[in-house]
Amino acid sequence: MSRMLSRHVYGFTMNTTDTRKDHFSPTREEFCQFCHLLYDRHLSAGVGGNVSARAGKSIWLTPSGYSMREIQPHNITVVDLQGRLIQGETPTKEANMHLGVLRARPDINVIFHLHGPYIISATTLLEPGPDTLPPLTPGFIYYAFPLTMLPFRIPGSPTLAEDVTRALSAGDRASAVFLQNHGLVTAGKDFPEALNIAEEIDEAARVYVLTGGTAPPLSVEDIDKIRSLRQD
Ligand SMILES: [Zn+2]
Repeated sequence: MSRMLSRHVYGFTMNTTDTRKDHFSPTREEFCQFCHLLYDRHLSAGVGGNVSARAGKSIWLTPSGYSMREIQPHNITVVDLQGRLIQGETPTKEANMHLGVLRARPDINVIFHLHGPYIISATTLLEPGPDTLPPLTPGFIYYAFPLTMLPFRIPGSPTLAEDVTRALSAGDRASAVFLQNHGLVTAGKDFPEALNIAEEIDEAARVYVLTGGTAPPLSVEDIDKIRSLRQD
């Protein structure tokens, strides 16, 4: 099933073709296309950042030690939901973070973990807590406000995996979480949704950094109106 959504948010027109399928069925080419897109958008660098996708009862992961720019369909690591290797090389060291969220959130099929420079800058300036990045842009408010930031945890650690899983599965079942001095995790029903969330947070993080954290946030009344446009 697909449908066209057209939203007008304070002068912004949000036109999105909703291609979410009743049964998510990714292709390896699509997985790689989004890895390359994330790299080209400067949302990962070097061998940083990682991606997962639910493919039936299997989970596809980026392999450890690869740059997102070079991932090809035959490089994708395949594991089961418990992390047992089915095919390919050793998965990303953040595999347990992805698997924890995918086990806890059957509505989520795609997870991005990203290291963009504006995202990381914002996470170094803001304090951890349940509402970190200020509500500066309609797109950020629509997709991901309020945004929790977890205190710094060692990358690849069990503590990071547990904390991210808890943050994305508790309460209102958030779509994203900031990691202090580290980056961002976004969770979507499909690749475009996970990317839309990441791009809106990246844009709001840029605005926050470029204005030196001094830009006034939108009003509570406007925030409520924008959030009410969500369809979930
Ligand atoms: Zn990382």
